[in-house]
Amino acid sequence: MRTSHRCPKCQGEDLLVVDPWSQPDPGSSNTTSPTQVAFRMSYFRRQVATDLELWVCAGCGYAELFAKDVDTLGELADAGTQGLRRVRREKDGGAYR
Ligand SMILES: [Zn+2]
Repeated sequence: MRTSHRCPKCQGEDLLVVDPWSQPDPGSSNTTSPTQVAFRMSYFRRQVATDLELWVCAGCGYAELFAKDVDTLGELADAGTQGLRRVRREKDGGAYR
């Protein structure tokens, strides 16, 4: 969708992009904050892996989320960050792990 600029469900080409995808700020009634993929590395430190962007088809409403910083997300997965794992398809076309 993000690459083809076409909806995979209805083939529509009128797309809306929310970048970064934000949600209401829990500490304020009239502001929003970017929705982030983040992990707590220690009690005091939080690692933000990436912001997200949301692609929505204006024709059918189908939506997809994309991570903006895949490299950092992968580095954290390879470092064994709790709650994050990498899944790769077997080269022989076998089952997913
Ligand atoms: Zn669509």
